Amino acid sequence: MQRGHIVEIGPVKKVLAEPFHPYTRLLRESILEPNSETAWDEEITLSTIETKEFARQGCKFANRCDSRLPICEETEPPLSFVDGREVKCWLYGVQGKHDTAS
Ligand code: SF4
Repeated sequence: MQRGHIVEIGPVKKVLAEPFHPYTRLLRESILEPNSETAWDEEITLSTIETKEFARQGCKFANRCDSRLPICEETEPPLSFVDGREVKCWLYGVQGKHDTAS
């Protein structure tokens, strides 16, 4: 889920082993190793960038996506069925390079 939208649905092992959505890949790469020596004392606030992502047209992840297409800026992608899972990304939709949606 990203900015209140489900971006990838599928069997946990498949999604974690080979995420399709760029945001799912980013989340997986962001997983930290546990460290009992470190305490979390940082205050969490929504940054201006994050607030803009909630309100933007098109894909909420477009500002940070290395795979962005022109359509991503204007139109929110649909959930497309791909290889036994659902992905909300134009890379897997009707205009994407991995077009397997029907
Ligand atoms: S829809 Fe576009 S911007 Fe959004 S994750 Fe997919 S490629 Fe990236």
